Amino acid sequence: MLSRSRIRRGRISPARVRRTVQLAFGLFCIFCGWRFFLYYQWATGASAVYVPKPPMVEGFLPISALLGAVHFFNTGMWDPVHPAGLTIFFAALAICLLLRKGFCGYICPAGWASNLLERTGKRLGLNRSRPAPARTAVHKAIRTVLHAPKYILMAGFLWTMSTGMDARAVESFLTGPYNMVADSKMLLFFLHPSATALTVLAVLALLSLFVSNPWCRFLCPYGALLGIAALFSPCAVRRNAAACTGCGRCSAACPAGIAVHAQQRVNRAECMGCTECVSSCPQKDCLQLTCLNKPQYDWAIAYGTVALLWTAYLAAVWWGKWDVSIDAALIQKLHSTMM
Ligand code: SF4
Ligand code: SF4
Repeated sequence: MLSRSRIRRGRISPARVRRTVQLAFGLFCIFCGWRFFLYYQWATGASAVYVPKPPMVEGFLPISALLGAVHFFNTGMWDPVHPAGLTIFFAALAICLLLRKGFCGYICPAGWASNLLERTGKRLGLNRSRPAPARTAVHKAIRTVLHAPKYILMAGFLWTMSTGMDARAVESFLTGPYNMVADSKMLLFFLHPSATALTVLAVLALLSLFVSNPWCRFLCPYGALLGIAALFSPCAVRRNAAACTGCGRCSAACPAGIAVHAQQRVNRAECMGCTECVSSCPQKDCLQLTCLNKPQYDWAIAYGTVALLWTAYLAAVWWGKWDVSIDAALIQKLHSTMM
């Protein structure tokens, strides 16, 4: 049981901390996207001005990073083509292993967009979803069906990689021409989206106004993998059942749709550690973020996530695992033939 004196609260609300961190990383992503566009212009010969590629764009290549991780465990060698992508992937895994799905909740730009749409939907009165007061069998069955697609997608990727690619095939992919320009192809996807891609994005955006975070909760295979890692996290929100009135405000506030009021320890794959449930609870000695069973401030996961990501970045720069050094002439040649 958590005594009142041990409860720790920050002065700024968790929602505001989350919005601020997400905004900072979102703006940084937009800035890097602009710099990458200028690099792309140079690489394709549309501009004579060379602009270095911002390495963080490699964080948008999760499949390449996953194969880079397989290659690392096979050979002990870091991905030479997208080293920053592998660094970000390992950093995201470490964050989730230690601090729940902090990477999804605070860093990922898709999570930021999802959060903005969720808030817009709530302001417009479109998102009025309230969790069921008790977790019935039907409730659990619906939850299982809705959460299945992201795990099926993730299992499909892992199955294809483990059965269809031996160590040599993985290395061939990583050093092959397609992977070398994969980030530019990803940029093209956003610059010239197909009608199908636009339709899917529009449907997801529209749905996000009515339902909280459908992409992150039900579809993202990357998030599914990180969510499984988060199950091993020593941090979780704990509920003091003796102090709980069962009002359900915590569950209604949860952007991951978790029935917080029905848990003792919220160890769910979808939990981002945002602690909005904690701040929404009217009982002062009821909900508490804990790590290794010790009470923590509400913002501990936010700050810990940012600190871990910075540490990973600085370590990668220090050990030369961030910037890529591919010959400029080769890059331009690949862009002229592959794009
Ligand atoms: S359970 Fe609490 S900490 Fe986890 S996602 Fe929901 S509101 Fe955030
Ligand atoms: S908001 Fe607090 S009191 Fe209400 S159900 Fe959740 S944990 Fe219990």
